[in-house]
Amino acid sequence: MKNKKVLLVIAVLVVVYGVAQAWGFWGHQCINNKAVFTLPKSMFGFFKTNISFITEHAVDPDKRRYADPEEAPRHFIDIDRYGEHPFDSLPKYWKDAVVKIGEDTLKAHGIVPYYIPKMLYRLTEAFKEKDKFKILKLAAELGHYIGDAHVPLHCTRNYNGQLTGQHGIHGFWESRIPESYGENYDYFVGKAHYIKDPVTYTWNIIKESYAAHDSVLQLEKELNMRTAADQKFAFEERGATLVKVYSKSYTAEYNELLNGMVERRMRLAIIAVGCFWYTAWVNAGMPEINDPEIVAITQNFRVEMDSVNTIYESRKKLDGSGHED
Ligand SMILES: [Zn+2]
Repeated sequence: MKNKKVLLVIAVLVVVYGVAQAWGFWGHQCINNKAVFTLPKSMFGFFKTNISFITEHAVDPDKRRYADPEEAPRHFIDIDRYGEHPFDSLPKYWKDAVVKIGEDTLKAHGIVPYYIPKMLYRLTEAFKEKDKFKILKLAAELGHYIGDAHVPLHCTRNYNGQLTGQHGIHGFWESRIPESYGENYDYFVGKAHYIKDPVTYTWNIIKESYAAHDSVLQLEKELNMRTAADQKFAFEERGATLVKVYSKSYTAEYNELLNGMVERRMRLAIIAVGCFWYTAWVNAGMPEINDPEIVAITQNFRVEMDSVNTIYESRKKLDGSGHED
């Protein structure tokens, strides 16, 4: 009887861990953290002093998807829902896309490339207002969406390999691999630069991600075919419980086949986040923000996050769909 209960717990956890969060929480936090070091001197002091907030709150949008029904579509786009040549047929600007496609359809298939420029605008306004808390909050969240846009499986309808019998590959690529090897990645990505055309820049991120999604799926399919079933998964401890995960050897082989792809996408995400933060600041007229004080969290935000965290903790155990991450 006891054994049955243990197995049930494991089965539930397999689903949860297999889904994971975009880039995993570790990946998102790493991207925001490292992006701070791409900033010029005039911004660096403020961001470095508040790097704990920028890092910790990189994952707020994923947590919020349970509390806010509007949140889910902001994290992905199923490009392959839009025909043979989606990048030609899909309008680059939100207003044009709404006219051509309709808001409901757009939201159903994900809106991340439309949401990033919107967040850039909001961050620019926050810089203009010199509202330090708002700057940090929006910068942290913008970093999240840019991170998501760099994940190949955030750009396809087959986001978790569910159409090709590869269920779990979403978390495998974006959580298991960076959490296994990310400590040794090269995070020296150079200095942030100004983005003249943020909309085109954003769509280029999506194009690159989508171009890589075939390899992400195909390479795992090939590896799966030549791996014995009992070598593919293993059990690892997560606190007091056992979780079924892709085995270390299977993870190592997949990582080898990907030939540095996860590290490359992560490095590109880091520099892109730095560039977007910098661009918002420049577009706001380069306000003086180099103040070495830690910005206090507002009472409203504390209340909002308490509620978001409570809902997140109770819902994540039940949720198995995972496309919204
Ligand atoms: Zn996300």
